[in-house]
Amino acid sequence: QPIDELIAGLTVDVPDHPEPGIVFRDLTPVFADGPAFRRVVDGLAAPAHSDPRAAALADARAGERAFDVVAGVEARGFLLAAAVALDAGVGVVPVRKAGKLPRERIAADYALEYGIATLELHTDSVRPGQRVLVVDDVLATGGTLTAAIALVEQLGGVVAAVAVVVELAALGGRERLAPHTVHALWTT
Ligand code: 5GP
Repeated sequence: QPIDELIAGLTVDVPDHPEPGIVFRDLTPVFADGPAFRRVVDGLAAPAHSDPRAAALADARAGERAFDVVAGVEARGFLLAAAVALDAGVGVVPVRKAGKLPRERIAADYALEYGIATLELHTDSVRPGQRVLVVDDVLATGGTLTAAIALVEQLGGVVAAVAVVVELAALGGRERLAPHTVHALWTT
């Protein structure tokens, strides 16, 4: 079964969540299904191996994997990032909502429908030149991933790839993230 059909079949649409007029894509049944979760984790890691910028760096370090660390965005991104990192034999770092990280950190604001939110990253989570695979569950407007990418790059990290399970294409996130390419396992 193609992975997009697999994800689509397990995703549950929740009308009017978290507010009236929004249809929330609930991916928890995808993660709860062992074989589906395995395919999602494999799929999220794959684009880093084909991204031209990561590939160029990998050439310079022939034979190595295409990313050095996986960054996951709180909170559903944590579930994915940890699994991808463990499978690849690299570490995982958390991109967190404001006020959660205890040590020296940098912050990036991003727009919500009403107001702004802030993501943070420990300054020692990414070293200059490290290739970072950035993952989250859903790409909507792209504000969240724009902020996460900005944090990684502020620390000198190289974004090896940006990977999501589901892309909500009508919200324009892909365009917003340019020149970074988003790899989505299911675009709807
Ligand atoms: P954006 O910043 O791209 O507008 O929104 C993406 C962020 O909001 C992601 O961290 C994602 O977890 C969450 N999000 C937005 N819409 C949905 C949705 O329909 N389903 C899920 N599971 N998460 C969503």
